[in-house]
Amino acid sequence: MKIGVLSETCQGERRVALVPDVASKLVTSGFAVIVEAGAGAQAGFTDDAYSEVGVVIEADRQALLSTADVVLLVQPPRLEDIALLRASTATISFLQPATQRSVVEALAAHGITAFSLELLPRSSRAQSMDALSSQSSLAGYKAVLMAANRLGKFFPMLMTAAGTIPPARVLVLGAGVAGLQAIATARRLGAVVEAYDVRSAVKEEVKSLGATFLELALETQTGLGGYAREQSEEFLTRQREMLTERVAVTDVVITTAAIPGRRAPLLVTAPMVKGMRRGSVIVDLAAESGGNCEVTQPGQVVEVNGVWVDGTTNIPSTMALHASQLYARNMSNLLQHLTSAGELKLDFADEIIRGCCVTHTGQVINEQARRLMGMAITQESTQTEAH
Ligand code: NAD
Repeated sequence: MKIGVLSETCQGERRVALVPDVASKLVTSGFAVIVEAGAGAQAGFTDDAYSEVGVVIEADRQALLSTADVVLLVQPPRLEDIALLRASTATISFLQPATQRSVVEALAAHGITAFSLELLPRSSRAQSMDALSSQSSLAGYKAVLMAANRLGKFFPMLMTAAGTIPPARVLVLGAGVAGLQAIATARRLGAVVEAYDVRSAVKEEVKSLGATFLELALETQTGLGGYAREQSEEFLTRQREMLTERVAVTDVVITTAAIPGRRAPLLVTAPMVKGMRRGSVIVDLAAESGGNCEVTQPGQVVEVNGVWVDGTTNIPSTMALHASQLYARNMSNLLQHLTSAGELKLDFADEIIRGCCVTHTGQVINEQARRLMGMAITQESTQTEAH
């Protein structure tokens, strides 16, 4: 089986789907690996580093697309690339079915078997393939560094000859994968950290990282697979009222709250931002899905009444080396799961394959993807789901 790795073409994307040490293991397992020339350059991996482990470097993207059996990418494939793939080729990438309907439809129309990493079940069996988690963890870590870099204050308490500096106060909203990593990072830097999540199940994890779990007089919410359910507007209004006082006294707010497939909940309003001290910083990790903060501008840093609101998108790409390394391990684990004796073996009774395979034999077969794309739920997709 030929595994093809393309250069990412999305603006600002520095990651690569496969790194040399993971490619080396795939070559040893009997896969042929072809990497587009220069694909790893922005993540710190030279063509020579791939060649040294038995990877073929291909300068002609078109040739790679027309010979690969499985194409690995970070971002969804481009329409012009899909057109060059042979029918029955497989692609593995983030696919963002909710916003990339034309891409998913093109994949189906070309007979491609496409896997979407966003739809991988969040189960312990799938943990080693879970690219959403590996990349969220990087984002949580980096968000704190970005905030620390902008804040005109120390994070730790310092006792100096020139006087004592109190520690910075950090509030983390949403304590999922990114939030927990943000808490751990802020604690390592010496800040006093508070956190809140609608899922009370994370309370002990928050405490074990040395942060305080904010007790708000709100009902706790748990949905499927450890995710939060979408909250009512009334719930969110009460939540914002209760958070206002905590937001006002904090130096840094890191927001990570999300509901899969929905717009991010609004947790910090413009008046709440105005109530913060000048020089305070908000890093909104939900910027791409609508933002947890009302004044967030996706992809920009804005200053509102002296408060910095950072809406940087694609933060994992700013740590492209480790982001690619973790992503590549997720890829390799998923590939091993999807193949047997060097061939794609798709057993739709398997919850991992059923969960993340979006297009197959000319159809959008995944019920969740169809819902996200606003398509009718077909009998085939329900049967595939129900298998
Ligand atoms: P996510 O990115 O969808 O959401 C981030 C966090 O926002 C969640 O913890 C959610 O509860 C929280 N949130 C939603 N609305 C909120 C609100 N109004 N106020 C405050 N917080 C709010 O989730 P994620 O980080 O990808 O994963 C969430 C959970 O899923 C994990 O903590 C874990 O329990 C589970 N998970 C399991 C696995 C696995 O077993 N392989 C992998 C990843 C995640």
